[in-house]
Amino acid sequence: MSATTSALPQGGPRVAGCLPCELESASARAVLYRDENWACEVAEGYDVPGWFVLRARRHAEGWGALIAGEAAGFGVVAQTVSKAIQAVTGAPTVYFISFGENYPHLHFLLIARPEDLAPAAPWTSANSSTRRSMRWNRGIPRPT
Ligand SMILES: [Zn+2]
Repeated sequence: MSATTSALPQGGPRVAGCLPCELESASARAVLYRDENWACEVAEGYDVPGWFVLRARRHAEGWGALIAGEAAGFGVVAQTVSKAIQAVTGAPTVYFISFGENYPHLHFLLIARPEDLAPAAPWTSANSSTRRSMRWNRGIPRPT
């Protein structure tokens, strides 16, 4: 991946081909939360009810690349979006998953787990979904 010349609102470069960077252009209806450093959206095309992407707005690769303001604000943002997802979905639990393998840009998949869904089910689904996404990103056609 290489940096392009388009800039994020706070001045950081976007990286071509980076899905978390591309979410900066998400439609307004896909946005759950945004502040100067963090954003949470539905990733259109990857949308699953109750699933969201929480990401650093700047292309920061991993925890070590965060600047002080980004790192300090994470806990408040995580609590805010978690409460919002719980309020909207009625789910008692929101999982935060972060791999960083396909896109090193620090981001989390947030998954609302409804009360009537077994705790292992979202993990099984996320694991399966991640494998499908990895195949799609390598140019393997989506299953029909
Ligand atoms: Zn990025």
